[in-house]
Amino acid sequence: MFKHLVYIEEKIARDSSTKKILEKLQPSEIVYIQHYKEVLNQTNSHWLFNKEHQKIILAKRESEFYYKGSYLTPTFGFKHFYYNALAINCLFHCEYCYLQGMYNTPHLVLFLNNQDFINAIQQFIHLNNEKIYLALSYDTDLLALEQYYPYCKEWIQFANNEPRLTIEIRTKSHQIDLLNTIQPNDNVILSFTLSPEEIQKKYEPFTPKLEQRIIAVKKAIDKGFRVMICIDPMIYSSSYQSIYSKFLDYLFEQVSPKHIHAVSIGVFRMNKDFFKRIKKNGNNSDIYYYNYEIENKMVSYSPDIRREMIMFVQNILTQKGIKNIHIYD
Ligand code: SF4
Repeated sequence: MFKHLVYIEEKIARDSSTKKILEKLQPSEIVYIQHYKEVLNQTNSHWLFNKEHQKIILAKRESEFYYKGSYLTPTFGFKHFYYNALAINCLFHCEYCYLQGMYNTPHLVLFLNNQDFINAIQQFIHLNNEKIYLALSYDTDLLALEQYYPYCKEWIQFANNEPRLTIEIRTKSHQIDLLNTIQPNDNVILSFTLSPEEIQKKYEPFTPKLEQRIIAVKKAIDKGFRVMICIDPMIYSSSYQSIYSKFLDYLFEQVSPKHIHAVSIGVFRMNKDFFKRIKKNGNNSDIYYYNYEIENKMVSYSPDIRREMIMFVQNILTQKGIKNIHIYD
């Protein structure tokens, strides 16, 4: 995918992690740049065209090694809920993804100074001496990038030695075998976002099929990971009840609910500025043509539909024996 052209910030051109990635990518051309934003923030570029010609940018993050969690995400009961951005943009292209409205281009930025991110969190924990929940890179799919840089491995190793830290790695990737050499602790949560087959096929281009993702869930459980299932965003249609009940029956026929640490659920929602921008960029998905309501700068279904969908799925999960259900509403 990235065989043709790779952008590299000059300051990391000679770093060993840069050399390792280049060995994997074998690009035909390298362009050296001063700062990743020169490419990521290009204006007058066509987002969807660039997605078809997505480039990789190797960079070093100088600051902002973590952020306070957004009000759009559940905090899982933690006082300190943070996330970081080890990479920007994603290999996948889910049509409902806010990343399309967040950056000018879809080019993939990988920050190779992962140890600086780890050191910053270590320092935060020492200063506060309290537990922290850290979502690793919501703005990408980190396990899908593990083939290029071992982000997940390095963070799991760090978390294994830091009991005050709980990390969540959320993914649609099925490449769980890349973590085979790692022994996870209970403070590592591997969170698999799953969608009904109809939704995956229609709205989640490039992602592995539901069947492959369920196999990955089973492997992760066998490996000893704490596994969370994330059913978010749920997409409304007149047949959503039959779609989601069939999906949950299928899932829990194969995965025992007693092996699931938690399930997180939420319906489609998006910051209204991102929504407008994505539509303007030419995304013609029917996702962007529904008659939504706007509340607190957030686009979503009406409160009645949101409540109905959440209750419907929550009831099924309770009947299946899932006790730990996190709801975003
Ligand atoms: S996997 Fe996640 S980050 Fe990647 S495109 Fe889909 S929703 Fe966005």
